[in-house]
Amino acid sequence: MEFRDLKAQYNKHKEAIDTAVTAVMAKGQFIGGEPVARLEETLAGYVGAKHCISCANGTDALLLALLAWGVGEGDAVFVPDFTFFSTAEVVPWVGAEPVFVDIDGDTFNLSPQALERAVSAVCEEGRLRPRAVIAVDLFGQCAEYGKIREITEKYGLLLMEDAAQGFGGRIGEKRACSFGDISTTSFFPAKPLGCYGDGGAVFTDNDEWAELIRSYKVHGKGLDKYDNIRIGMNSRLDTVQAAVLLEKLQFFEEELEGCNRAADFYTERLRERVKTPTVLPGYYSSWAQYTVRFADEKQREEAMLRLKEAGIPSMVYYRKPIHALKAFAQIQTNKNDCRTAQEASAVCLSLPMHAYLQESELETICKLI
Ligand SMILES: *Cc1c(COP(=O)(O)O)cnc(C)c1O
Repeated sequence: MEFRDLKAQYNKHKEAIDTAVTAVMAKGQFIGGEPVARLEETLAGYVGAKHCISCANGTDALLLALLAWGVGEGDAVFVPDFTFFSTAEVVPWVGAEPVFVDIDGDTFNLSPQALERAVSAVCEEGRLRPRAVIAVDLFGQCAEYGKIREITEKYGLLLMEDAAQGFGGRIGEKRACSFGDISTTSFFPAKPLGCYGDGGAVFTDNDEWAELIRSYKVHGKGLDKYDNIRIGMNSRLDTVQAAVLLEKLQFFEEELEGCNRAADFYTERLRERVKTPTVLPGYYSSWAQYTVRFADEKQREEAMLRLKEAGIPSMVYYRKPIHALKAFAQIQTNKNDCRTAQEASAVCLSLPMHAYLQESELETICKLI
C-alpha cells in the first residue's frame, strides 16, 4: 500500500501527462514559455488572486515573500510551533527572529489566542518589531483566518498564508492561497497539487510586491536578467513541471473529492477509538494528511508497528515541535509556552491518504488501528 499513491495517479492519467511532457521536449523550451505563463494565469484564477508568480519550491516561495516585504534584522515573525521546518527556516534566513506560537488542540493550526498573547509579549518586551505572521494550513485545512486577520489588523502586522499543504482547501467559497497579504504553496510531489519534481508559487493582489517577487526570483532583474538592480536568487518553475501541473489541474477537484471520501470513511470507523481530525464548520480540507491522535505515545508507536507489520505505511508529522529542533537551539527565540504542539508531536499519526485508496484497504487500516 502507498502512503500517497503517485503511481496509481500517473497510470490513470498517463496519456494526457505524457503528451504534455513530450510537447515541451519537442518544442525545446525548458525554462519559462507558454506553459508557465498559462499555469500562472490558471492558478491565479482558480485561487482568486490577482497575481500568481511561480518559483522553484515552496520554501523559496516563503522566502520571496519575506524579501518583498523587506523583513529583516530586528523584526519578529510569528510562526506556528507545529509545522514543516521551512515555515520557520526562512525567518532567520532574512535575519529576522521567529517567535514560535502554540497551536489549537483540535485543528493543529495556529491558535489565535496564543498568537495574540505572543504578539503582546513581544510588544511589551520591546526588543523586536512585530512585523508578520506566517499562518500554516496544516494537513490540508485552512487556518482560522477570520480571527487571525483581526489580530494582524489590530497590531499592524503583515499576514502570510503558507498553503503548501492547504492548496485546494476552502473556507466557504474562498480558496486557500487567497487569505494572506501574500500566500504561498508548494508543488512537491506529495502535496495536494504536486508536480514531478520541485515547484512552488506565490499569490498576492498587491502589484508592487508581485513585481518585486518577479525580480527577486530571477537574480534581482530590472528590465531583463542582465540588468540586475538588486541581489536576488534563481528560483524558477521548470516548463516541464508547469505542463504536468496544467494536466493535473484537470482532475484535481476529482482527487480532492476522493480524499474527502477516504477521510469520511476513516472518521466514521475510527472516531470511537482515537481522536480523529476536526474540520471546522464551513471548512473544506484538501487532506494533505489524515492525522489521528492516540491517548499516549506508547499507543501511537504500537499502532505504527502493527500497521508496518501489515505492510501499511504511516508517518509521524511531526516528531518534534519546531522550537525543539536542534537548528533553533543556537538561534535566539522566545520561550513561549507551546505545550499543545509538544503534546501533539508525541501522539499524532498520519495514515495513508490519497484518492486511489480502495474501501477494502481503508477497512484493513481501520481494523488494525
Ligand atoms: C512542504 C512544505 C513547505 C516547503 O515546500 P518545498 O516545496 O518542499 O520547499 C513549506 N511549508 C509547509 C507547511 C510544507 O508542508
